[in-house]
Amino acid sequence: MVSRVIPVDAFDLVIFGGTGDLARRKIFPGLYRRYLAGQMTAESRIIGAARAELTDIAFREMIAAAIDEFVPKERIDAATVAGFLERISYVPIDAKGDSGWAPLRAKMRPSIVRAFYFSVAPSLFGDLAERLHAHDIADKSSRIVVEKPFGRDLASAKALNSTLADHFREDQIYRIDHYLGKETVQNLMAVRFANILFEPLWKSEYIDHVQITVSETVDVEGRGAYYDKSGAMRDMVQNHMMQLLCLIAMEPPYHFDPNAVRDEKLKVIRALETVPSENIVRGQYLAGGGDGSYLEHSENPASKTESYIALKVNIANWRWKGTPFYLRTGKKLRARASEIAITFKAPPHSIFDDVQGARENVLVIRLQPNEGMNLIVMIKEPGPGGMRLMQVPLDMAFADALGEHSEDIPDAYERLIMDVIRGNQTLFMRGDEVEAAWAWADPVISGWEARGDKPQGYDPGSSGPEDALMLMHRDGRRWREIKG
Ligand code: NAP
Repeated sequence: MVSRVIPVDAFDLVIFGGTGDLARRKIFPGLYRRYLAGQMTAESRIIGAARAELTDIAFREMIAAAIDEFVPKERIDAATVAGFLERISYVPIDAKGDSGWAPLRAKMRPSIVRAFYFSVAPSLFGDLAERLHAHDIADKSSRIVVEKPFGRDLASAKALNSTLADHFREDQIYRIDHYLGKETVQNLMAVRFANILFEPLWKSEYIDHVQITVSETVDVEGRGAYYDKSGAMRDMVQNHMMQLLCLIAMEPPYHFDPNAVRDEKLKVIRALETVPSENIVRGQYLAGGGDGSYLEHSENPASKTESYIALKVNIANWRWKGTPFYLRTGKKLRARASEIAITFKAPPHSIFDDVQGARENVLVIRLQPNEGMNLIVMIKEPGPGGMRLMQVPLDMAFADALGEHSEDIPDAYERLIMDVIRGNQTLFMRGDEVEAAWAWADPVISGWEARGDKPQGYDPGSSGPEDALMLMHRDGRRWREIKG
């Protein structure tokens, strides 16, 4: 039913930061799975690069261990792993130095797709871009992949864009937002634009409100000092949640073409209203259950950085005037779950006298866990006793719908890397999109900084600060209960 795997062209892919956490947890295991699936062909080569002085053999051992740790056992096949490792080599390179570049250049083959994954701190992006050019390694068709965070405000994002633009054209730059690589997120576009069912209703006339939730159970996981400079708004809302909002709110592009899709997303971001302080709730998790508080983890007892944020966002255009988008995300919450819920308005007139409780349709798109979609519809409650109505979900878990093939669904990183090789930028953020998102986020952040607002404490394992409930209640709405 699924997965017609179409092999991509042979490539030379250099992973800068090849020994790092992201490379070991996501990039190499993902590439292995694409090799196993037959999408990465035997002619392709992957070159790891970092400062550590490693031999090819030592690096391959590191990657073998990463596959062992991060790929499910049933997907590990010894002969395939050996074949995959043969395609991997390593070059010691310091992004800020000039040694190592000549050996890297010697590894590049002519007439083969060249891609360079910058899986290093953003402060090194400029050095890498510059040296790839200075040493004549990148050519006109080479692609670079850059990781988040892409700036921490508009000024730094602009500076980063301009540094990369000194050496690469926009159509060579792939800014990763791994949320866009998720199966369900892309399905959002299929649901909207490949069915006649929803689009006629997709406007404020029929949609009451939209909720976007990214709820985590983890704390700042030993990254407290780093996270403290960011916070939930920069780490989640400005990028991932903004992308989800765009896919729900955008107009139909004229074609499923990278620039057509991104043009429409950009229009949404530009139409976002500035968020007034009464539509923002920020929180910090307290100590509990034997675990430390945010302030302990951040090592900054005076920190005002938020580990939780809820926002009511309005889009100033014809389609969405009057339909708020409520966004919430946080750490140390009750459940690990990400979902988008589109709540339709109740029918304008009910012919049924005795309707108890909610009577609206809700389309729920689950990003994790258990990716799938759920359309909540009203039916008659079974049994005798008259016409009583109840809400039931029409549930489509992808794992059930796709059966044994569901394991073949590539994870976000796999899909996005294959898109880089194919030269398809649809699921990557364009420079102007990132800048527009910061232009919206900056005044929101500087507003609470100028007011000196302190985040509200919330209990670990809860659903967030009390005031976040009020954000909904005062509009006569409520958050959906999040189940992991
Ligand atoms: P990490 O574990 O700290 O790894 C950093 C990598 O960069 C290492 O391989 C390191 O190896 C290399 N490196 C450091 N300085 C270098 C230099 N001067 N020249 C060449 N290589 C250098 O970081 P990470 O977690 O993998 O993150 C990498 C990037 O992905 C960051 O931009 C991060 O924000 C982003 N990201 C990470 C995750 C994640 O889950 N980890 C998620 C989203 C985004 P040497 O020290 O040997 O040089």
